[in-house]
Amino acid sequence: MFSKKLDNLKTYEAGKPIELVVREFGIEPKDIIKLASNENPYGCSKKVQEEVKKIIPQMSVYPDDSMYELKEGLAKKFEIESKNIIIGAGSDQVLEFAIHAIEPKKVLMSKTTFAMYEIYSKQVGAEIIKTPSHEHNLDEFRQYKDEVDIIFICVPNNPLGECLDWSDVKEFIDEVSKETLIIIDGAYQEYASFKDTNKKIPIKELLNYPNVLYTGTFSKAYGLGGMRIGYGIANEYIIQNLYKLRPPFNITTLSLKAGIEALKDEEFVNNSIKQNFIEMQRYVEFCQKKNLKYIPSYTNFITIFVNNSTEIADNLLKIGIIIRDLAGYGISAIRITIGQPSQNTKVLLALDKLI
Ligand SMILES: *Cc1c(COP(=O)(O)O)cnc(C)c1O
Repeated sequence: MFSKKLDNLKTYEAGKPIELVVREFGIEPKDIIKLASNENPYGCSKKVQEEVKKIIPQMSVYPDDSMYELKEGLAKKFEIESKNIIIGAGSDQVLEFAIHAIEPKKVLMSKTTFAMYEIYSKQVGAEIIKTPSHEHNLDEFRQYKDEVDIIFICVPNNPLGECLDWSDVKEFIDEVSKETLIIIDGAYQEYASFKDTNKKIPIKELLNYPNVLYTGTFSKAYGLGGMRIGYGIANEYIIQNLYKLRPPFNITTLSLKAGIEALKDEEFVNNSIKQNFIEMQRYVEFCQKKNLKYIPSYTNFITIFVNNSTEIADNLLKIGIIIRDLAGYGISAIRITIGQPSQNTKVLLALDKLI
């Protein structure tokens, strides 16, 4: 009854929710530290919360399906036009639109990168080519670039945290056939461009390419993971085609409001980012002290290589600390979202005992 394409497709495994740890280990929700999904540990802007509360009575009304105000806000931020933007229920949905719109035969991605690229591609029966290196290596991408219909570049990369320079990405894009769609996933761009301007993707410039789609999200730096708001930016021709796959009212009235207001409170985002890198330094120093290999990170998480990642992740879970075990990717490493100062203190103390 079901499509053969689904046969070798694994369902996406999200970071463990707080509720699960409450049920399994009987730990109070307030004592659980969730650092597994790269959410903003400082929550979201208070102004956003106030504005969203005000429109709760409007829940019965469909949202503005043109998403005029949110697109205008994004257009202003990136100095582009609304016609270059599509809104998705998370940037995930934009990735889904793009992959389903192309129906690629073959796609190319880094060995260890965002799991949904593979899942959406397999939904349409595509063959997946992964580069030999875990981290992005553009020379390896060059070897396969002419065989594929979509190339995924995650800058910075999740779950590893490394980030290519824009100048290198640009050089690569210029070499790729215009018949191949290049998806530049900037889910953590706010963090990367703060840490190092060489990593900043000049989004406006991407509109000059007939075959480049940029995706961004409100789920990470903006602290709105629960609202499911993301966006795609590209030339009008790409956006028009993605629109053909969009279900009506694909984000909620409350989400729309949250996104609009979040763009007005850049101070919250900037403070979160600054604090993130101050706190990340504590993990870096811990790794140096313990002689652990880690990947210098341009995101809000850090990936640390350890001997027995599954055991460490399991032991942390028992005391209410949720992190990501990367054993499933074939590497013995843990990925920890950088939390609030007090959370990081507890995590580092626990890690110190376990390692
Ligand atoms: C979190 C994430 C996304 C998508 O997040 P949404 O919540 O769907 O917007 C996309 N790409 C990467 C690399 C991510 O880490």
